[in-house]
Amino acid sequence: MSVVGFDIGNLQSVIAVARNRGIDIVANEVSNRATPTMISFGSKQRFIGEPAKTQEMSNFKNTVGAIKRLIGRSYDEPEVQEFESQFIGSKLCDVNGEAGVEVNYLGQATKFSATQLYAMYLGKLRETTSKELGGEMSDVVISVPGWYTDRQRRAVQQASQIAGLNCLRVVNDSTAAALGYGITKSDLPEDKPRNVVLVDLGHSSYTVSVVAFKKGELKVKSVAYDRGVGGRNFDKALSDHFIQVFDEKYKLDIRSNNKAQVRLRAACEKLKKVLSANSQAPITVENLMNDIDATAMYTRDEFVELIEPLLKRLEAPIQKALADAQISADDIHSIELIGGSIRVPAVKQRLSELFGRELSFTLNQDEAVARGCALQCAITSPAFRVREFSINDITAHPIRFKWEAADGSDDTNLDVFVHNNAIPSTKMLTFYRKQAFTIDAEYSDPARLPPGTNPWISRFTINNVTPTDNGDLSTIKVKARLDLSGVLTITSAYTVAETEVEEPVPQPEPKEGEEPKAPEMRKVKKLVKQADLPVHQVSQCLDTDSIKELTKKEREMRSVDELVHATEVAKNNLEEYIYDIRAKIECEYSAFIESSEQQAFISTLGEIEDWLYEDGSDTTKEVYIEKLSGLRATGDPVAERYREDKDRPQAARELRDTI
Ligand code: ATP
Ligand code: MG
Repeated sequence: MSVVGFDIGNLQSVIAVARNRGIDIVANEVSNRATPTMISFGSKQRFIGEPAKTQEMSNFKNTVGAIKRLIGRSYDEPEVQEFESQFIGSKLCDVNGEAGVEVNYLGQATKFSATQLYAMYLGKLRETTSKELGGEMSDVVISVPGWYTDRQRRAVQQASQIAGLNCLRVVNDSTAAALGYGITKSDLPEDKPRNVVLVDLGHSSYTVSVVAFKKGELKVKSVAYDRGVGGRNFDKALSDHFIQVFDEKYKLDIRSNNKAQVRLRAACEKLKKVLSANSQAPITVENLMNDIDATAMYTRDEFVELIEPLLKRLEAPIQKALADAQISADDIHSIELIGGSIRVPAVKQRLSELFGRELSFTLNQDEAVARGCALQCAITSPAFRVREFSINDITAHPIRFKWEAADGSDDTNLDVFVHNNAIPSTKMLTFYRKQAFTIDAEYSDPARLPPGTNPWISRFTINNVTPTDNGDLSTIKVKARLDLSGVLTITSAYTVAETEVEEPVPQPEPKEGEEPKAPEMRKVKKLVKQADLPVHQVSQCLDTDSIKELTKKEREMRSVDELVHATEVAKNNLEEYIYDIRAKIECEYSAFIESSEQQAFISTLGEIEDWLYEDGSDTTKEVYIEKLSGLRATGDPVAERYREDKDRPQAARELRDTI
């Protein structure tokens, strides 16, 4: 049974597996410990992860990143239209109510929803992990930003289903990192909790959380975000700057050329990284546009000045998180930094100034979240034993239930889960009804959501409701649950009725030496469960049939990719065989083949080699396999005769030794 964690980053994702001796990070096919979160669509196949990154420049219109920012959102949200569109080369569009892209795939304009894209990517991580584990993986815990809505969390779960994974929990990324911190620290206090501030500055967003640790326990006290500050915003600031510089210097119009913009953005990211270790550096973009190689020098000081508006934004979430947690700077034990963009020296300096103290780097900044996810998977999985550790997380978005007023009551709504409500959490609500009724759940503070996000979460219909036997309103209990993944459901609804029951009368504790009295019974009226009521839930997510359909489509696309891969392998095998056997036939095998046959074979090898570069450069797997077996029909017997001859003296020696 696999125990796996995926940290899905906006730029790159990390896979961790829990093993008996600890947590390991899984390297991908090119031995990188993080895999680009990117998909590229080609005329014959999809490229996911590393190969997509390679295609980014040449196929930018059909290459998609930022899927983490699109999943579970609508195309018409202003942030998607105005902000995310700046970071995605492909054409954004609506796909059945969700944001998606239109790309050219297998030679046709094709639309994919963000959930589908996410599923494709998860499929790739699954493949990488399965290779490492030497068997299929299934159970996984996936990290998401704490600000993900119900819709986004469900979309991640559904993407997992489409990818053939069993997502045990969707966990908030900072909570996952906190778990990694808590479980490995052996000196946590027993009584007064240790308050740690976790700061994550990644590619696309910034998170500050306050977590209280005690021995065997963590409690998230507050979390605050800025969804618009991260490494990609630094890159964009740089590229906006250099567009101006190079436009002027070389008389270009870079904004009119997408390819040039992608090239420039990549060079800016590189420059940013170099400036993390040097006070100045050159930027060079070969063939930026019109065969011009653009270059300039840039200093770290200039960079710091350029990103000052972004650095300013680091403050507000810190203030908010500390205020929400109701702690002052003095109550903080340490400030732990994670995320790739923490490497920018100006960021470290600004954070240190804002907190007025030294920062701490105990956690692995690139891998802490993935490790936490694997630990969470180990805790959830029955097949794994981990040290007891209790995780108390919170939800960012308060939830309200609304309903139509019923006879005799004018209550029409209730704040069921408040801001920073614990997750998981269960709340019991009571209704008085004679017939089926509906409850709408919605986010009660839309200002906390990205602008334009639909605050509506789900509609629950409570069915089979009837009046009581004497025609009165039935009393109905409804159990609402915000589950481990922060997803809202109504787990049950049932009628209750006042019924007379017998129960023992509570007795005072017998005094010392006194005999306990015989139990006395009394009759009391109690609310007793009568009948379960079916609940029908409608949410902003895919229905079962759509999931089935998309799972089938995903499998088909995977088969196409696998066939392309198998065809390449068959072609390579044929090519390699030609080179290998020709060299041998001309040298060591030449004594084992008739000279006329040798000549004919060499000429056949030459013909097939030529064919491979012409008519045979793009054909089916079967044809390559057939050609190879045709050649082997001649080559193998020769190789066999050669081997027999080689083995003969050896066999003779062995025979001699045994006599
Ligand atoms: P997110 O958490 O926002 O979804 P992510 O997890 O993919 O994104 P990280 O891997 O934490 O992001 O960080 C990636 C960012 O870190 C990129 O913007 C990258 O350019 C930046 N980065 C990496 N190394 C350096 C460096 N040496 N100097 C400056 N920035 C760096
Ligand atoms: Mg991250």
